[in-house]
Amino acid sequence: MTTSPNTGSATTSTRGGPARVRYAPSPTGDPHIGNIRTAIWTWLYARHTGGQFIVRLEDTDQTREVPGSLDRILGSLLWLGLNWDEGPDIGGPFAPYKQSERLPLYHAAVDRLLADGNAYRCFCTPAELDEMRKRQQEEKRPPGYEGKCRDIPREIAEARALDEHFVVRFAVPREGSTTVEDLLRGPVTVENRTLDDFVILKSDRFPTYHLAHVVDDTAMEITHVTRGDEWLPSAPRHALLFDALGYPRPAYVHNPIILAPGGGKLSKRHGAKSVLEYAEDGYLPDALLNFLCITGWGHGDDTVMSRERLIEVFEIDAISLSPATFDAERLNWLNGVYLRQMPEAEFAEVVAKRLEIDLSPDVPRPLDRALVAKFTPLIKERVELLTDIAPLVDFFYLSEVATPPVEQFLAKKWKDQPQATADALAAVASDLEAVEAWDAATLEAALRATAERVGAKAGDLFTLVRLAVTGKTVTPPLFESMVIVGVAPCVARVRAAEGAIRASM
Ligand code: GLU
Repeated sequence: MTTSPNTGSATTSTRGGPARVRYAPSPTGDPHIGNIRTAIWTWLYARHTGGQFIVRLEDTDQTREVPGSLDRILGSLLWLGLNWDEGPDIGGPFAPYKQSERLPLYHAAVDRLLADGNAYRCFCTPAELDEMRKRQQEEKRPPGYEGKCRDIPREIAEARALDEHFVVRFAVPREGSTTVEDLLRGPVTVENRTLDDFVILKSDRFPTYHLAHVVDDTAMEITHVTRGDEWLPSAPRHALLFDALGYPRPAYVHNPIILAPGGGKLSKRHGAKSVLEYAEDGYLPDALLNFLCITGWGHGDDTVMSRERLIEVFEIDAISLSPATFDAERLNWLNGVYLRQMPEAEFAEVVAKRLEIDLSPDVPRPLDRALVAKFTPLIKERVELLTDIAPLVDFFYLSEVATPPVEQFLAKKWKDQPQATADALAAVASDLEAVEAWDAATLEAALRATAERVGAKAGDLFTLVRLAVTGKTVTPPLFESMVIVGVAPCVARVRAAEGAIRASM
């Protein structure tokens, strides 16, 4: 296969009229991140050109079907806000949008190809094909069907087909070459003799991907086929099919894969999770959309790009040909940016919904929105992921906070000083009880005075108080948090810590 590198000027301009583009997943499980990035780019292209985004389920390989996939695929698109104009659930002018419901169309195409001599029935058994493959390996020849059944006269093949299993293969021209125009790469040419006679109809009468998508992309008037570059080697086969059926070829965009940091295949550890796992893990759809879109495509140095901005400036032929690396830190950073950009009320609602998932089941649902609105301003600058929030704020919801192990109090300045530590906490408790106005400034002033009285640095004392009141070392701002927790629980938690330290002495 030879390709001419993309010099920046695509051979066919994409900057034109409304595009009809499709996302064509197979129901083999949750769409992974690379596959969804192609969907995002495809969707943006449709929206940018004022065209249509079509979802088509490619379910012709019944052996690989995973139940529930369609719901999860559509759920992933919905979560990301990628709306579709036609699809298996909503129908459309070219319905049905599930390939398993379109078999007559593929059979008609196969019949035409057979009648025109562009395809033939192959009766080779799996054992024969195995043997052929072994021989090719031994002789160090490239794999591929060698055409044993290609010359069986049609009448004989038709007669045998009445009681023998067969597949239908495309009869690839033995000479010449085929050139596919790829919008990113320019012309991609292969010698036809390097292509074998591939299967277009399987013995179960289901078409292969090669045939089915060619028939459907034509019937559904798809203008651009956008897909991962694992399909590039097959593209000349598809071009030959389009030509043999007399269909105009669509434009092609084969996009490179996403690499793991340091190169190589992106594994689960590096972020190759499904979209719905990202949702579960506390990411915002807009942040993931933005991140995936700019992983392998760019607009100047822009990083934070809203959906509207992406729609405005996205050009599909500006996808980079060098594979992009998955940058998890950038994703987390972007997620934080999107969280901070949210209007207060929206942020509070997102937080409340997330906490309803993440907080202990003992906390009654629905969560009290007034309480959430009190602490969300305190945490907004501190979170990158929604899942960071429950561990940060759970103490607001607990009537009793378990006192952390005594050693946690007796650390740093308080190391080996249980008596002084317990005394300091006792002083805090009585000073808190005496505080007249329960607001952050008054509390801080009161506890600074306590620190002076017990001969401790304010910061060291606040560390004890934070641990006693919240049960943790990292929290939202202490005094604002104490205001929300309230006098009685704060005093009770400080006394409980004091008691635990005394009991350990
Ligand atoms: N069903 C194919 C896949 O999931 C679609 C490829 C294409 O977009 O044509 O990989």
